[in-house]
This record gives sequence, C-alpha cells and structure tokens, in this order.
Amino acid sequence: MKLILLGAPGAGKGTQAEVICNKLSIPAVSTGNIIREALKNGTEMGLKAKSYMDEGKLVPDDVVIGIIQERLQKEDCKNGFILDGFPRTIPQAEALDAMGVEIDRVVSIEVADEKIVERMSGRRVCGKCGASYHMLYKQPSNEGVCDACGGELIRRKDDAPETVEDRLRVYHEQTEPLKDYYAKSGKLRTVQGQEEVADTTRLTLAALED
Ligand code: AMP
Repeated sequence: MKLILLGAPGAGKGTQAEVICNKLSIPAVSTGNIIREALKNGTEMGLKAKSYMDEGKLVPDDVVIGIIQERLQKEDCKNGFILDGFPRTIPQAEALDAMGVEIDRVVSIEVADEKIVERMSGRRVCGKCGASYHMLYKQPSNEGVCDACGGELIRRKDDAPETVEDRLRVYHEQTEPLKDYYAKSGKLRTVQGQEEVADTTRLTLAALED
C-alpha cells in the first residue's frame, strides 16, 4: 500500500500515519520530521530549511523532492509507505509521478480552519523522536514525557498562533489543489477528522478499502 495523507497542518496526518503504519507494517515517511531531524543535527539541508519552516512557509520543492527521492529508495519502503506532509505542491506530486511511484490511495483528512487553530494551541511533540501529542486529545501517560522514548514534550516553534495562520494560508493556496489532482485519477478519498483519534483511524482505514 502506497498511501498519501493530505490535510491542513494539525488535521492529524502525523498521528494517523503513526497508528496506521503499525497496523499495515509499512513505514510512515514525514518530510517535516526528516527536516526537523536534519535541523537538530545541524546539516546543511536543515540549516537551509530553517528560515522557511520558522516562518510557516514551504521549503523549496527541489529540497523536499531530493529528501523524498532518497528516503523512498531505502529498503523499508519496498512494500509500501505512508507519506505524511508530502506532496504539498503540484510540482512535488508531478515529481513523485516522474519517479515512477504508483500511489494506491490518497486520503484527505478534513478539519475546519477554526478547529485547526484550536488544536494547534494544544499540540506538543517529542523533542527527541518527533512523536506527536495533544494536551486534550492525545495525552501522554506522564505529563510532558514521551510514551515512546521518554523524551521531553515541547511546542513546535511553527505552532505559534501567528505562524499557524500563515501555514493555513499556504495550505489552501498550494496544497489543497492536490485534492483535484488526485481526484482526477480516482485515488482521492476524504474523511472528516474526528475528535477521537481512533474514530479518524477507523474512517481512514475504511477509505483504504473502497
Ligand atoms: P509538517 O511537520 O508536515 O507540518 O512540516 C513542517 C514544515 O516543514 C512545513 O511548514 C514546511 O516548512 C516544511 N515541510 C514539510 N514538508 C514539506 C513539503 N512537502 N514541502 C515543503 N515544505 C515542507
């Protein structure tokens, strides 16, 4: 199964990717996580991406396309993968096609903008492994500590309210047109993001079946 999760920032793509990749035994590939990791390690690519990311803008297509090309060649992607946060522009989707990657299904998780702003204010991520949490909807067992690796939970710099508005604008202008792009080939399914993570997972898995 080669799956793309679409949706606004904060719609729950990362959370669903983490759950579904375990159920389907395929890796979740998040360009955001790869870039944050590169930033943490101080690589050239990370430093190049930092200013874009901090301002809620998209990192240039050639940079993320390079990241994805390299990642999808790894052995663990042989039997499929879930793309979370890629593609985010039409040229990125075209590049994926040009690589000969045949996507099976694209699921767009729909959440209203007002709800996104509310959700982002409670979002926390693990500073060590990147796992995502929410102060109301997906609490860790111990406050402020990652269940998976024991790392400290922090607020992403680009989750600040003023940056979230910019990211939503970027989403509507540059990423939302991908829904039409994939609807044309009959691959698109939309699900309504639910309050409970498990309910959205159920709807997403059902969308892979039909
Ligand atoms: P995310 O964790 O998916 O919300 O991504 C965080 C940030 O990383 C985005 O706001 C962009 O600055 C950058 N980013 C992640 N994926 C992409 C992509 N496919 N294209 C361009 N920029 C990206």
